[in-house]
Amino acid sequence: MDSSQWIDVTTEKNHYSLDHFVIPTHYEQDVSSILIPHGVIMDRVNKLARLIVEEATGPLVVCCILKGGHQYFADLVNAVKKLTNKDGKTIPLSLEFIRVKSYKNDKSEGVTMSITDEECNEFNGKNLLIVEDIIDTGATMVQLLKKLETFSPKSVKVTSLLVKKTPKSNGYIPDYVGFSIPDEFVVGYALDYNEYFRDLDHICVISEHGKKVYAV
Ligand code: 5GP
Repeated sequence: MDSSQWIDVTTEKNHYSLDHFVIPTHYEQDVSSILIPHGVIMDRVNKLARLIVEEATGPLVVCCILKGGHQYFADLVNAVKKLTNKDGKTIPLSLEFIRVKSYKNDKSEGVTMSITDEECNEFNGKNLLIVEDIIDTGATMVQLLKKLETFSPKSVKVTSLLVKKTPKSNGYIPDYVGFSIPDEFVVGYALDYNEYFRDLDHICVISEHGKKVYAV
């Protein structure tokens, strides 16, 4: 997917005032603006589901990258289930849940996954769809893809709801992108700050107050 196909919300004018939508009272002080209202997220997820189904040639193993990807994953899978491809066929799905942690030490960089190599061997010959919440530098996804390739899947495609526009990017762009966002820390729609804000529906920019209150 090239940048003309995703929604750019990187400028000041894309931010909505908190007065214009409902925010849970317990977070009123903790976010500074709404970047993507929940309804817009849902409409975009429906479009991404359609693009994925149109290009799907057979069964998909849909891999949820935990924890931040779980809401996007759930809504995307629900949308994909309702759609048919160009031949009028629905797409068989199997679901996998992977917790991924990236690491960097003086010798190498890579990722650890919460599923075993034995479980990953099941990916051999399958079409994988990786579902991620956000690509920031791209380091985690590049390392994850490197690791997954060692299990010889038939194909691997990646969708990320958000891609951050940042000078720290390694240039990695997923196959299906929802929105490009500014270089700010966002929360909501399952994206957290120290495990808080997963219960907020809109994608919002965290405030200085929020960063202080929920700091560890
Ligand atoms: P990357 O390896 O692309 O730099 O980082 C990817 C991970 O960093 C994401 O999966 C996410 O966990 C975390 N991350 C990066 N930016 C944000 C952000 O703005 N908000 C939240 N909640 N997590 C972020």
